Amino acid sequence: MVKTALKLRLFGDPCLRKPARKVLAVGPAEKMLIKEMIRAMYAFDGSGLAAVQVGIEEKIFVADAGEGPFVVINPEIIKFSLKQTVLEEGCLSFPGIHIKVKRPESVRVRYMTERSETVEIDVSGLAAKIYQHETDHLNGRMIIDHASKAEKDRFKVQLAQLENIALKKIRARA
Ligand SMILES: [Zn+2]
Repeated sequence: MVKTALKLRLFGDPCLRKPARKVLAVGPAEKMLIKEMIRAMYAFDGSGLAAVQVGIEEKIFVADAGEGPFVVINPEIIKFSLKQTVLEEGCLSFPGIHIKVKRPESVRVRYMTERSETVEIDVSGLAAKIYQHETDHLNGRMIIDHASKAEKDRFKVQLAQLENIALKKIRARA
């Protein structure tokens, strides 16, 4: 089993609401963090992990859409399709909850690679959902912000429970 020292932040933790800082260059510290984030993503059994979800306010996410891990730094959605599709999305910060989220079917993303190069890619389907979901995290947004009132009501009790757990964890850290 993969182990990690990084601690997962749950819905209700204020660090999930703070927009992360732009990374200026990828140095040894960032490289180490990225390595650890990939380990953590697999340890938590997720398909994506944004740095803010482990309490680090830097614009970095790692993900795996089924073809191995990839790293995205300072992502910006610069173009999106008018066509939108709905997918039930889960999130490591919302254990046990899957919310219907409507998003563009395809997007163009500009980001920095681990080698500090700026690139642009076009993605669609599941990969497009992952890029949007994780980019949201780095801007302080989460799946719950896309949910209809009916969806929020459906998970009212679980969401309140998560907020309680998150607050207890914060108190334990203080
Ligand atoms: Zn998430």
